[in-house]
Amino acid sequence: MEYREFHIDNIRSDFPVLNRKNRGKPLVFLDNAATSQKPTCVIDAISGYYSTSNSNVHRGIYELAEDSENLYHEARRVISEKFNATEKQTLFVRGATEGLNLIAQSYGPLVLGQGDEMILSEMEHHANIVPWQMICHRVGARILVCPTLSDGSLDQKWLFDNLNRKSVKLIAITAVSNTLGTVNPIEKIVSEARRSGVKTVIDGAQCVPHQKFDFQKVDCDFFTFSGHKIYGPMGIGVVLGKTEALEKMPPYQGGGDMIDEVSFEGTTYAPAPQKFEAGTPNVAGAIGLAKAVEYLDQFDIQDIVKHESKLLEIASHGLSEIDGFKEHGITTGKAAVFSFTIDGVHSLDLATFLDAQGIAIRTGHHCCQPLMKSLGVSATARASFALYNTQEEASQFVVAVRKAVDILR
Ligand code: PMP
Repeated sequence: MEYREFHIDNIRSDFPVLNRKNRGKPLVFLDNAATSQKPTCVIDAISGYYSTSNSNVHRGIYELAEDSENLYHEARRVISEKFNATEKQTLFVRGATEGLNLIAQSYGPLVLGQGDEMILSEMEHHANIVPWQMICHRVGARILVCPTLSDGSLDQKWLFDNLNRKSVKLIAITAVSNTLGTVNPIEKIVSEARRSGVKTVIDGAQCVPHQKFDFQKVDCDFFTFSGHKIYGPMGIGVVLGKTEALEKMPPYQGGGDMIDEVSFEGTTYAPAPQKFEAGTPNVAGAIGLAKAVEYLDQFDIQDIVKHESKLLEIASHGLSEIDGFKEHGITTGKAAVFSFTIDGVHSLDLATFLDAQGIAIRTGHHCCQPLMKSLGVSATARASFALYNTQEEASQFVVAVRKAVDILR
């Protein structure tokens, strides 16, 4: 396949929001781990759907409904093909949070019972902690937490020792940390887990914009991600699940479209994916997400990784000399997420200063309070890069942080 040339000016012109100002200065958007901006093709796909094809799916026999249905099916086909899953294994949800709740609530009790254990890592987002706490509390299972080492990597010795425990039935783990940028060795973890009969759930929210993911190859039981972090719309996400698991799982929610037959005596359910998609789906979201996937697929992922790594290097190199500066997460090959603290400079003050310069970064616990505790901080500042960020922006960020330190400290 012929990839599109990685030409930053052309790429930037695909994203109209990048032309706006932030506090009167040109916008430098470095909060991509929270959400990414949308290319015109995605915006047009959503607007085009509502302009020409909007109708509820599944129920209409008229041409408009047929168009809408076909577009929805096509979106599922594009997305399943991208991640090497079948259409029946590809469920639409609202995002990774709903995906993890669906998996925990519907699949959790099938594998976790009284006295069983499951593994999470210390670097998990709350979305991959709280749903499991809720289900473990309900079934009487216990959560074991894999520690993070000082460079931000997983304690693999702990992990592989504990995966062998007889009582461990499931591991739910992020592919890429939204705070540390750490890329976890997912294929190795899944294959070790499989050997021990442990089921695997991968939170792919942060890996999809930076890595290729092949569901069959990785061979995990579940994978989930949000559309909005991969240049697609908000309110749509995906769960990929193994067929045998999806067949056994009860529905997550009840309602229209997920049934086979309903009577007051009892209801039978449609097969997956419909079984897990009660109610009117986010058709425009699915179409927008498929377009985002096609957009991203024009590029060689290696070009994106190389580009984003350079931005990371500029940021890291440019700030490392500052007295009291600490980068949290320094593993080699990490994703383009740059979390840091500077002694004597509150991250909120820093972000406010940068905002006035047009630079958008995030501060806080990044929905990782347990990780913050283990890092010994209450918050970090986080700049996260995407394919449309430039080296000039990374340098501008460095200059602005240095200036902030001079003024604030
Ligand atoms: N997991 C990770 C690693 C994330 O970074 C996020 C979003 N910050 C989520 C899960 C939840 O995603 P969403 O809010 O889109 O449901």
